[in-house]
Amino acid sequence: MKLQVSNTNAPVWRDVMVKSDLPAKLKPLEVLSRNLWWVWNSEGKSLFRDLNPDLWRAVGENPVMLLQQLGFERLQEILKDAKLMERIEKVYADFKAYMKVPMRKDVPSVSYFSMEYGLCNALKIYSGGLGVLAGDYIKEASDSCVDMTAVGFLYRYGYFTQTLSVDGQQIANYEPQDFNMLPLEQVLDADGKPAILDVPFPGRIVYSHIWRVNVGRMCLYLMDTDFDMNSEFDRQITHQLYGGDWENRIKQEYMLGIGGVLMLKKLGIKSELYHCNEGHAALLNLQRLVDYVQDDHLDFNTALEVVRASSLYTVHTPVPAGHDYFDEGLFGKYMGEFPQKLGISWSDLMNMGRENPDSPERFSMSVFALNTCQEANGVSWLHGEVSKKMFAGIWKGYNWAESHVGYVTNGVHMPTWAASEWKALYEEKLGAEMFQHQSDTKYWEKIYDVADKDIWALRTTMKNKFIDFVRRDFKEKWLKNAGDPTQVMSITEKINPNALIIGFARRFATYKRAHLLFSNLDRLAAIVNNPDRPVQFVFSGKAHPADGAGQGLIKRIVEISRMPQFLGKIIFLENYDMIVAKRLVSGVDIWLNTPTRPLEASGTSGEKAEMNGVLNFSVLDGWWYEGYKFCEEGGWALTDKRTFTDQGQQDKL
Ligand SMILES: *Cc1c(COP(=O)(O)O)cnc(C)c1O
Repeated sequence: MKLQVSNTNAPVWRDVMVKSDLPAKLKPLEVLSRNLWWVWNSEGKSLFRDLNPDLWRAVGENPVMLLQQLGFERLQEILKDAKLMERIEKVYADFKAYMKVPMRKDVPSVSYFSMEYGLCNALKIYSGGLGVLAGDYIKEASDSCVDMTAVGFLYRYGYFTQTLSVDGQQIANYEPQDFNMLPLEQVLDADGKPAILDVPFPGRIVYSHIWRVNVGRMCLYLMDTDFDMNSEFDRQITHQLYGGDWENRIKQEYMLGIGGVLMLKKLGIKSELYHCNEGHAALLNLQRLVDYVQDDHLDFNTALEVVRASSLYTVHTPVPAGHDYFDEGLFGKYMGEFPQKLGISWSDLMNMGRENPDSPERFSMSVFALNTCQEANGVSWLHGEVSKKMFAGIWKGYNWAESHVGYVTNGVHMPTWAASEWKALYEEKLGAEMFQHQSDTKYWEKIYDVADKDIWALRTTMKNKFIDFVRRDFKEKWLKNAGDPTQVMSITEKINPNALIIGFARRFATYKRAHLLFSNLDRLAAIVNNPDRPVQFVFSGKAHPADGAGQGLIKRIVEISRMPQFLGKIIFLENYDMIVAKRLVSGVDIWLNTPTRPLEASGTSGEKAEMNGVLNFSVLDGWWYEGYKFCEEGGWALTDKRTFTDQGQQDKL
């Protein structure tokens, strides 16, 4: 028997909010720390850093923690530093001016649903490209004044941080997050107490706190079930991103879709369009159907038309196995009450998630998304074609090429991913307006007037900054992981600013083929040790903790990097995150990607590289299939388009 906590002598912990008490003159810093606008405003970011550069690094670029820990003496110094005070005022004035611009009225408002968001390093609620894309969309919506509200989760443990054992084994650390130390605000009720969202689950209510992340002019609302009103079983819903078993996954997706729509209702937010970022969020359309049937008394078919006409689904995954499917039993355990709410039968509901209605197929979130969203798109032209074929079975009697599934090639938020040095150059040479017109080639033409030597000087500056970063980062982590101190110096000293540096960093999913470079070690050794034209490689990336093969790849690369002929020539940087990513894409000479075509649905890191003057070298897959056609001078391509069923043959080619 399990005793209730209230009947035992276990201590009862209560949350206490700790707020720094900044002097009145420094209150603007507090306001700035609670809006992520600084992430893409160079002056805002450098302001926080200059308050205490070492601390800024130590707190992982988290301005809320920075202000908490600045200390009385430093605060007094800042108050007396006229220059710094002037900068604070200037940045604050810029921020207020930015926030004053009204939303556009000529475009529809959007609610955007996603399991993950990559906005800044301090918010560990992302794992990879899908999340970074979602974060970039919010930032871009803010810059272009499109009224968008985003919905997601605040994870207690987030995605893991990676350390590597001495022999290269990935160790996944899940660190609990103290939400009061993060750049967000808890949504309160009228009486000043934390707002509680009630989400009906079968046989119980699951309660959620609501947190708001201010992203420029936009709001991202995050749900969190990890508090004492919920059972242990339900508190776990928001513990980990992509963690737990299938049951936890369906609870998460239920919470994101059903709970997310109920949260928007509670907040009084109504949007004209609803966007599912990947199938994870698709149940939002089920709750919207329920609302139209129960509140507006529409019949099911009419409700479905209204929902379809206002929904969009973005698919990210090019292989069927990567999509979410739920067994009928598990699905029924959670969704059993919905047919009755909608006035349909259980098999009607199941069939909305089946490619072949009335078959024993499991419930597919992607099929459900396609059946309830009028518009669907892949994330690059090539991925759009692949998606048309992948989904062809859903629309019987049509040829796959006639499918309405389209594509929107992923982009990246340039003010976030271009280094401040490059942004300054663009502003000076191309004019500040170009940031509002990035996709118009006309605004780029003056780049040809910039002298090569100026561009090279900038590239050299960025490369040297990168090498400093690698030396420091590598040394710190090496020593922290009990690596041999006598070896670390010999490695970092071998990093050569005059060598060609090639970067490769991404999730270590096997289709990305990080191993490809290492298929002939003798030849590789000859290349990196060429005295006239030396080459160095920097790798970084995490493997999903359940992906043994991906972790094996990391281990293999770390082992190779320790071989005498590769010491200091092949470097593996631990814990790939948004900070490491930005350093890499702006600091190396060439950005390498070797996925199995066409599995890289888009792959955006190469775009980040290009806007930092770094050349891209990739298989013609994802965005590069289009990007390379557009500017062949921006890099190189592995142009073979054939696909073999024999992966070994494909790799050799
Ligand atoms: C941009 C980015 C990604 C996505 O890049 P890919 O090219 O799709 O691998 C993943 N992780 C981080 C931290 C990023 O910044």
